Amino acid sequence: MPEGDTIHYAANRIRPVLEGRVPDAIRTPHPRFGRDRWPERLAGRAVRAVEARGKHLLLRFEGGLTIHSHLRMTGSWRVLDAVGTRWPRAPRRAWLTIRRGERLVVQFDGPVLELMTDGRTRFDQRIAGLGPDIVAEAFDEARVLRRLREDDPTRPIGDALLDQKTVAGIGNLWKIEGCWLAGVDPWRPAGAVSDDEVLAIVRAVRPRMQQSARDGMQDRFKTIYGTAGRPCPRCGTLVRSRAMGDTGRMTWWCPGCQR
Ligand SMILES: [Zn+2]
Repeated sequence: MPEGDTIHYAANRIRPVLEGRVPDAIRTPHPRFGRDRWPERLAGRAVRAVEARGKHLLLRFEGGLTIHSHLRMTGSWRVLDAVGTRWPRAPRRAWLTIRRGERLVVQFDGPVLELMTDGRTRFDQRIAGLGPDIVAEAFDEARVLRRLREDDPTRPIGDALLDQKTVAGIGNLWKIEGCWLAGVDPWRPAGAVSDDEVLAIVRAVRPRMQQSARDGMQDRFKTIYGTAGRPCPRCGTLVRSRAMGDTGRMTWWCPGCQR
């Protein structure tokens, strides 16, 4: 699942290939970019920085241009050998390829991929409005609590934690596992969840997400995600599932040990 740890992992893989380097070739094979002339606009420019911000990835080029990506549920970043590698997805699904030496950075399936000025990234609320990044080294817990308390207190805590303005990087998987690890019912209204309980959720997922950002092995942290009808590994009660919030994200929880 593309969540904050997935994006940090991708950035960690892309950084040694591109940061401080001028790419040898940039291509945008997807038809939607036909008239955008990215290869011409980015030609000869070095990549200044590869940044992960919550679930957003930013490739910053010299001259004040930035490629902004958000994978939603379907997109993917891969770093492949430029020659002789079998691609993990069909080549026609590549929206962007950046070759540098023997390596090829590929963005598959978008769905948000845009070239913008640095100035716009400072004002675009999808990026500038993000809450503290849960995977980043510096993390301001007090700011997360402040933002959560400004939000609708009747919203289920699970749903509130998906709001990227409150905390950036948590997606549906980490919401579910975090609530389970902390023993908090994801359906409880945010206003009825104490600061300590919120921090227990956040502190449970943060080191796991950081580990996954380092090694890319997110799946091993799935404990109750997708286990409806099976016994909870902690108390044996059968795990339940139901869609939550405006986005209808499927939510798994144990009614036995999550209060
Ligand atoms: Zn349980």
